[in-house]
Amino acid sequence: MPASAPITQDVVTIARKLPETDRINLVGLTRAQLREALIAGGTPENKAKMRVDQIWQWIYQKGVREFDAMTNLGKAYRAELAERFTIEIPEVVSRQVSADGTRKYLVRIAGGHEVETVYIPEADRGTLCISSQVGCTLTCSFCHTGTQKLVRNLTAGEIVGQVMLARDDLGEWPEPGRNPKDETRLISNVVLMGMGEPLYNFESVRDAMRIVMDGEGISLSRRRITLSTSGIVPEIARTAEEIGCMLAVSFHATTDEVRDKLVPINRKYKIAELLDALRAYPKLSNSERITFEYVMLKDVNDTDADARRLVKLIQGIPAKINLIPFNEWPGAPYERSDWERIESFADIIYKAGYASPIRTPRGEDIMAACGQLKSATDRARKTRAEIAAEAGLNT
Ligand code: SAH
Ligand code: SF4
Repeated sequence: MPASAPITQDVVTIARKLPETDRINLVGLTRAQLREALIAGGTPENKAKMRVDQIWQWIYQKGVREFDAMTNLGKAYRAELAERFTIEIPEVVSRQVSADGTRKYLVRIAGGHEVETVYIPEADRGTLCISSQVGCTLTCSFCHTGTQKLVRNLTAGEIVGQVMLARDDLGEWPEPGRNPKDETRLISNVVLMGMGEPLYNFESVRDAMRIVMDGEGISLSRRRITLSTSGIVPEIARTAEEIGCMLAVSFHATTDEVRDKLVPINRKYKIAELLDALRAYPKLSNSERITFEYVMLKDVNDTDADARRLVKLIQGIPAKINLIPFNEWPGAPYERSDWERIESFADIIYKAGYASPIRTPRGEDIMAACGQLKSATDRARKTRAEIAAEAGLNT
């Protein structure tokens, strides 16, 4: 167990801007940024708002990737756009489908780096689990992603691009004249529970989620988006104010001593401080409740006393406790708690008045379950300059 694991950020963020000669990718730009880009590209200011609306709808509502398909724009204007801009999303390198229907996509982003995206179909919903970073700077000792060194933050385009590539694969873009809200959506929920700590890539995650929530775009309700954090306290209020989605927190322990070992960021932001931030969240974000995630590790955090302490700690916070049976990965230093232990733990929480669902592991056979994601990118870890040169980006 990495008792001396680093808890500081070591993030290499590559600017989205492409070299002057290259075309600019419109995917992931905010409405304001898109407006600016169009004006800089020659669109008259008095027409910019209308053009933003039209292009936005083509990209995010209809899934179009060619300017030539934007039939409500003049032919000459379409050609001008194509000269200056592109509509690009990350590439799917491979897709694995589990026996239970879970799909895992290995996704290549600029620079040749890879992240994973997982689609989990259930009877009443379809959840897309997306990544926010290549690897993770944090080193939670039970998490496979935490063993991978971070290479870089994803851009907003690469984050929203994961929703778009899954829609491509599932064939979910609406037919002309059909409103996506009319159908039972295959991707009905988005969770930021893939690789990375979303609150260490705040701006890109925020901008991407605003696109996902935009009523003229992918149009998912903010209540159907859940951001999971290991507990980056200073960013929690900002998440409520600037994103307003549902919040999940990787709690996993009921004493600072144990949490320091499992979730090393706890050494910086202690349980009491974290709980204060969580107490304020529902009101700030106008959401009903917080999800507490709790991984069940045999003989580490799974006693009845732990369950009782947990109930006491979260008193007064509208909450649901999601119990996650530990998912194994090669070389993992833990075991999953026995089933009876998990049920007894769940029972104590349930009797205290909280929902305490036990999360069924999905896609274990393809290493797609919670905490099993890890791409091979760290093997090719490079310097900032090397990554930038590879991706054709300015630093
Ligand atoms: N970085 C974010 C999102 C992570 S993944 C965070 O830590 O919250 C979603 C959940 O899976 C988190 O609660 C994470 O702690 C948990 N998890 C990580 N590794 C796991 C494993 N091997 N088995 C079960 N859950 C795991
Ligand atoms: Fe990073 Fe979350 Fe894994 Fe911790 S659990 S290492 S924060 S991805």
